Amino acid sequence: MSVLESFSLEGETAIVTGAAQGLGKQMATGLAEMGADVAIADVDVEKAERTAAELDGETDVVATEVDVTDEASVEAMVEDVTDRLGPVDVLVNNAGIVENSPAEETSLDSWRRVLAVNLDGVFLCAKHVGQRMLERGGGRIVNIASMSGFDVNVPQKQASYNTTKAGVSMLTKSLAVEWADRGVRVNAIAPGYMRTDLVDEVLEANPEMEETWLENTPIGRLGRPEELRELVVYLASDASSYMTGSTVVMDGGYTAR
Ligand code: NAD
Repeated sequence: MSVLESFSLEGETAIVTGAAQGLGKQMATGLAEMGADVAIADVDVEKAERTAAELDGETDVVATEVDVTDEASVEAMVEDVTDRLGPVDVLVNNAGIVENSPAEETSLDSWRRVLAVNLDGVFLCAKHVGQRMLERGGGRIVNIASMSGFDVNVPQKQASYNTTKAGVSMLTKSLAVEWADRGVRVNAIAPGYMRTDLVDEVLEANPEMEETWLENTPIGRLGRPEELRELVVYLASDASSYMTGSTVVMDGGYTAR
């Protein structure tokens, strides 16, 4: 197999959670470009429909509704995608939320909301897609962690978010070790600041933050969401066949300082 061929996802089926917008949408675009049929799985099903219509082209791109915090909803989503696109070869666990507040003022409800989406969601989707991958003897899972799982980035206060993203990297390693000898590889991507709606919302409320972020980012700019496409294709394809349990950091040098 040539190097280029090893990146191909021709004839494969992929699910990207939280792909109606932002990083998920860009990663879905990359997977489709390399030949995969893709399910845009999102709690905002109307936006997912619009995104799927936009990306549908050379390969099938469909929308499917899921609340990743709800096990029955995750099971129904996996069933729906399997019926419409065939068995799932690639799962990208991207859905995530952030709620910023000083730890001493954070309500238990807020803490639990962030844990539910960012950790329960990754676990539930990995569990239900993983079961089917193990039955078939293969598959690749890519979890979206964050540089916030390695460094406490400032000035925002986001203990719940940071904790979940460190958890995503450890869950990635745990699943990788459990499933390695049954053909299922599990890796993660830890992005730095990428200019998406999630980040724009934070900056709208606190415009002064951007200066601190840029000062701490050696490359001197925020990432562009489309810059994640190549990395997700690498981890989702045979190009990374000897890799499992890794979290690959892509952060403009933030955590290297
Ligand atoms: P975003 O807010 O633009 O998009 C998140 C998507 O997830 C939305 O479409 C939303 O509807 C969906 N979603 C939310 N809750 C859901 C649920 N319960 N079930 C299903 N879907 C749900 O966010 P983004 O910036 O594109 O971030 C995507 C991922 O990347 C997140 O996990 C985030 O933590 C991570 N990340 C982002 C950055 C960044 O700078 N943008 C940096 C590091 C990591």
